[in-house]
Amino acid sequence: MAFCARRSRRVLSEAASSRNTQVSPPRLSRVNGWSRPLHSFQIMAWTVFLTLAFTTFGVFIPLLPHDWRYIAYSVTGGVFSFHFLVHLIAISIDPAEASVRLKNYSQPMPTFDRSKHPHVIQNQYCHLCEVTVSAKAKHCSACNKCVSGFDHHCKWLNNCVGSRNYWCFFSSVASASAGLLCIIIVLLYIFFQYLFNPASLRTDARYRSISNKDTWLLFLPISPVRTNPCVLLALGLLVLLLALISLLLLGHLLSFHLYLMAKRLTTLDYMTQGRQQQKSTHETGKKGVSLQME
Ligand SMILES: [Zn+2]
Ligand SMILES: [Zn+2]
Repeated sequence: MAFCARRSRRVLSEAASSRNTQVSPPRLSRVNGWSRPLHSFQIMAWTVFLTLAFTTFGVFIPLLPHDWRYIAYSVTGGVFSFHFLVHLIAISIDPAEASVRLKNYSQPMPTFDRSKHPHVIQNQYCHLCEVTVSAKAKHCSACNKCVSGFDHHCKWLNNCVGSRNYWCFFSSVASASAGLLCIIIVLLYIFFQYLFNPASLRTDARYRSISNKDTWLLFLPISPVRTNPCVLLALGLLVLLLALISLLLLGHLLSFHLYLMAKRLTTLDYMTQGRQQQKSTHETGKKGVSLQME
């Protein structure tokens, strides 16, 4: 019975119902990206960030010649720190409408009754949040609350992106792309030097006591681990591949948001326009067919 009661409180939001898809919004509205459950994409993003940071600062940058090493530490370190900060802020901000944040929304949300109201938000009043909202607000089915200046629900942040955290989200994407570019440049330089001038990668003082040119040191700054060239090159190739795939995905997302900014659109506006265009094309096609039949 308790299970049935819990299920009956589930809500089909305006956004989801318009696509005729059944979703199960959380019974309690989510506050931000730290609200449980954590999303698998969010955990994947943190794993990739930690893997890239650990290998770049622990293995690859220490191989660079003295001057370049400190430049790489400063530039890449600055970009990574900035990304970490804005990413945390984008996750931690509650993007809800001011009217939603002002009321206590820690109580279970009501079920949306479509027989009473055709839309979740009507005349800027949300029937689920039970507050007046601004014109650009949207009730997110994943967060189950109205989000101010709704852009999209980001699975990587596990939070909605709206007017309150859009700049942090955008800075996070831009800085992640810049950080990945730094890693790729460092790795390409290391591969190039390994082929043509490997001695330039062995300038650290701890290489003086190693006579075998096939012995390389990993994690030089903390506790050097001796390894052979195959392990170093395999690790370099894996990290390069991971960085290239990540840059491809993030670069695409960054250029999409730069396009939206140039057109002064949100992701929601863009998707709504796309659906309207599809609908009008479909209707024009239907009219054409009926005229041909006449
Ligand atoms: Zn709402
Ligand atoms: Zn959301």
